[in-house]
Amino acid sequence: MEVYKQMNDYTEEINRRRTFAIISHPDAGKTTLTEKFLLYGGAINLAGSVKGKATARHAVSDWMEIEKERGISVTSSVLQFEYGGYCINILDTPGHQDFSEDTYRTLMAADSAVMVIDASKGVEAQTRKLFKVCVMRKIPIFTFINKLDRDANDTFDLLDDIEKELGIATCPLNWPIGSGKEFKGVYDRENKCVISYSDTEKGTKEGTATEIMLENQADLRQAIGDNAVDRLLEEMDLLDGAGAEFDLDAVRAGNLTPVCFGSALTNFGVEIFLKHFLKMTTTPLPRRSDIGLIEPGENQFSAFVFKIQANMNRAHRDRIAFMRICSGRFDAQMEVRHVQGGRVMRLSQPQQIMADDRKILSEAYAGDIIGVFDPGIFSIGDTLCMPKEKFQYEGIPTFAPEHFARVRQMDTMKRKQFVKGIEQIAQEGAIQIFQEFNTGLEEIIVGVVGVLQFDVLKYRLENEYNVEIRLENLPYEHIRWIENKDEVDIGRLSGTSDMKKVKDMKGNPLLLFVNSWSIGMTLDRNKGLVLTEFSRN
Ligand code: GDP
Repeated sequence: MEVYKQMNDYTEEINRRRTFAIISHPDAGKTTLTEKFLLYGGAINLAGSVKGKATARHAVSDWMEIEKERGISVTSSVLQFEYGGYCINILDTPGHQDFSEDTYRTLMAADSAVMVIDASKGVEAQTRKLFKVCVMRKIPIFTFINKLDRDANDTFDLLDDIEKELGIATCPLNWPIGSGKEFKGVYDRENKCVISYSDTEKGTKEGTATEIMLENQADLRQAIGDNAVDRLLEEMDLLDGAGAEFDLDAVRAGNLTPVCFGSALTNFGVEIFLKHFLKMTTTPLPRRSDIGLIEPGENQFSAFVFKIQANMNRAHRDRIAFMRICSGRFDAQMEVRHVQGGRVMRLSQPQQIMADDRKILSEAYAGDIIGVFDPGIFSIGDTLCMPKEKFQYEGIPTFAPEHFARVRQMDTMKRKQFVKGIEQIAQEGAIQIFQEFNTGLEEIIVGVVGVLQFDVLKYRLENEYNVEIRLENLPYEHIRWIENKDEVDIGRLSGTSDMKKVKDMKGNPLLLFVNSWSIGMTLDRNKGLVLTEFSRN
């Protein structure tokens, strides 16, 4: 029998872990904020040395060629660093609306989220959906309103915007005094003092922040001017009458977001935010499985795969499966069971992604995110646990694709590569593939959540599998899984003339519709038919 370490040996390690996702609209300042966090943690030397986008984004978070070409972050990355005794795992998320599906999955691996908002823009329409998923999942959200060194929207309007757009209450921990050229600093509500802002040297953590107590009116008026003080007092009066009370339970339940103001670029308010955040966010949370809740402190290792990334290193054509450790301690030497694959094995080349490189790790704990070399066996949602266990973590929902295309292969001689390529890309969760219900693999239909994924598919098949394809767009916009497939005779199902019957790779029947009216008609015509928008793996 294997001997496990006693529980107490690593509860301390687990308790100092904080695992969160960072989300924002493109350009709100997520990369800059992340780099400042790393700078405080000593993980990189000079965050500000990362000047333009070209180096900033590609150094840390971007791997794929296509990302370089387009200058957007297509895939998520994971970073680990230490700060103030905490071991922090940051899950970076793609900054493009088309990649929200990847973000959804990344959120499944996080215990909380930091939401970065541009103070001159507020909640932007294109990423509203993404933020809403956090709210829907009830994960605690911490808001950093960035770019106060530029002219910002009215503070009350910004808070209002979050409350209205996302349906979550806000509680400002600090309050900005002016913005842009008039930005004087922030008022710390808890300590009742003003932290005045002096233009810190960009990219360094030293800056002179002076603290003046609010009650010390004379000094304060001298430091930031009468107008600023009067306005602050007025706004504080208003806020005390209108704003939500701080309530940690409400934050942890995802009903209230603490808000901090600052400027990531000029490094103002970043460390204060980080400190507040680390104090309020949780230690690794338990996860649901088919045998009940699994607590992180349980002494046996378990994890689930939430992301698969191909081609992190093109020369080696490698594929990395990212997993979140949910319980216990991971040791590179140990054997684990891949439940869905039905195999007991050693994980190959387990690694942690650091600020700017990867390191092979020998151990990791619940809350940590690790990447392992994947020879093509893992799928999103898979569980790993100790050899004698066999439970499965709750699956990661597959989101309904909204765009469909038929794939035509240009060179039919390369059928094998084509099928392999498209299946692997589907396994990674970048696309979903379907077949005609009656015919089989000959015709492949691809569904994606964002249209950019079509380009990614074409590009990757060409570059990685040497297969050229042509995509022919299909008019469908809605997909429905048949929940009670065992009770329904799919062949005899009578839908509208523009409805299409397909099946997914597991053979589950699905229906494609051009509009929601057809869905209604089909339900009317087939009493007892139950359709769903999500498929659970
Ligand atoms: P991301 O797309 O959310 O990762 O945003 P980036 O961190 O790449 O920032 C987008 C742009 O905004 C970059 O040019 C940054 O230098 C700039 N930026 C980020 N934070 C601030 C800030 O606090 N103030 C100002 N003025 N610019 C900022």
